[in-house]
Amino acid sequence: MTQDTICALATPVGGAIAIVRISGPQTFRILASVFSADLSQAQPYTLRYGHIDDGSRRVDDVLVSIFRAPHSYTGEDSAEISCHGSPYITREILQLLIAHGARQAQPGEFTQRAFLNGKMDLSQAEAVADLIASTNAATHHMAMSQLRGGFSSELATLREQLLQLTSLLELELDFSDHEDLEFANRDDLVNLAKKIDNHIQRLAHTFQVGNALKNGVNVAIIGAPNVGKSTLLNTLLHEDKAIVSDVQGTTRDLVEDVIQIQGITFRFVDTAGIRRTKDQIEKMGIERSMQAAEKAQIIILLSEPNVPFPELNLKEEKPVLHVINKCDHTIPSSSFLYHKHTPGEYIHISALKGDGIQLLENALVKEAAIPEISENETIVTNLRHYNALLEAHTYLQKVLSGLQPAPDTPPLPSDLIAEDLRTVLSALGQITGGTISSQETLNNIFSSFCVGK
Ligand code: GDP
Repeated sequence: MTQDTICALATPVGGAIAIVRISGPQTFRILASVFSADLSQAQPYTLRYGHIDDGSRRVDDVLVSIFRAPHSYTGEDSAEISCHGSPYITREILQLLIAHGARQAQPGEFTQRAFLNGKMDLSQAEAVADLIASTNAATHHMAMSQLRGGFSSELATLREQLLQLTSLLELELDFSDHEDLEFANRDDLVNLAKKIDNHIQRLAHTFQVGNALKNGVNVAIIGAPNVGKSTLLNTLLHEDKAIVSDVQGTTRDLVEDVIQIQGITFRFVDTAGIRRTKDQIEKMGIERSMQAAEKAQIIILLSEPNVPFPELNLKEEKPVLHVINKCDHTIPSSSFLYHKHTPGEYIHISALKGDGIQLLENALVKEAAIPEISENETIVTNLRHYNALLEAHTYLQKVLSGLQPAPDTPPLPSDLIAEDLRTVLSALGQITGGTISSQETLNNIFSSFCVGK
């Protein structure tokens, strides 16, 4: 399956230098046909200077980095050609490599090969994509720790404990004819299962924080027309210099405004939609706002002096910041000098003049309630991993109720409990990739990577 040799541009278009990557068993044969220097004796982890030639002319002067299997990123023979960053040059080089037998790589295919060749497990491979996409210290830290295998080693511990539990149960099964024999103390089995389940739940709980750090905390600004919602959003956006504009992958209709406040990413949900409907019938605008409120984790309920706050009937309880805008005339500026926002307190601002915005930002950061992450803590950031942990937890609950049947129910046979345990193992195995056998699932995971990674 991985016998062909792949190539791709690994750097974005527009830089001074570009890197073309090639990996696979034919790497050095193909390079011998297009690169001027002889690489047959070249040591791994060295650079060679030379030029790429298409047979009739010099395409570019380049440096080639040499990696030999299995000590490369992919685990295969591979090389990186550093050339000048002209789109014409990189295209010519890729076409030459393809003409000599390589093929264009799919998104994430280099990393997929690294996974298939056992260089990293699936959660580490996914961390590579997260590392590339990291935009702040927190997301960088989480991706780095996952890449280094922090999560993987916790999963390995859980797997060991689950195997221990399974083998104790299976021992019981093997000797099930001997009714008088009890091989494992049921209390010990229950305690071990509970310990594993607690660990799994602890990991699953971190997803809320992990997801907020990675994808941002959703905030909706809700208020009657003309109270200053757009002005407030613009002020928040302009106050912060590190605006991350249009998020890739979202359609123009659903563009979300993303702001970093004190290192935390806040995502203002569907505010473009709310703004757009301003001139349309009011009802539609309110419906839109309510949808945004349901989706949000924090709500800024905006009003102005002598205008009551709109009523919110939310399905789910969540922090609501009561903010009174347009306080530039009605309230003396000394009233902005609170140090802390406490629930139930109004925050007075002037979106137009920027007064009180700092207080509002502090309140947002406080309500986001993102704890400090310690150096060695595992934080789950990936929805796929979170779902696998939930599945493992569900089946462990079944195991536990099988091990401790209710007083009037017959005990569950050990082979059925063992079956549920295998499902727990398989759910955890999906995270590291050990129990993923379908190529389609793998392709799905890697298709979100960039080409060249
Ligand atoms: P929206 O309909 O809630 O989005 O309200 P806008 O942001 O469009 O603001 C409505 C009007 O209120 C505009 O004329 C703004 O200039 C004005 N406005 C917004 N914020 C303030 C403020 O803090 N002070 C004053 N005096 N006017 C404001």
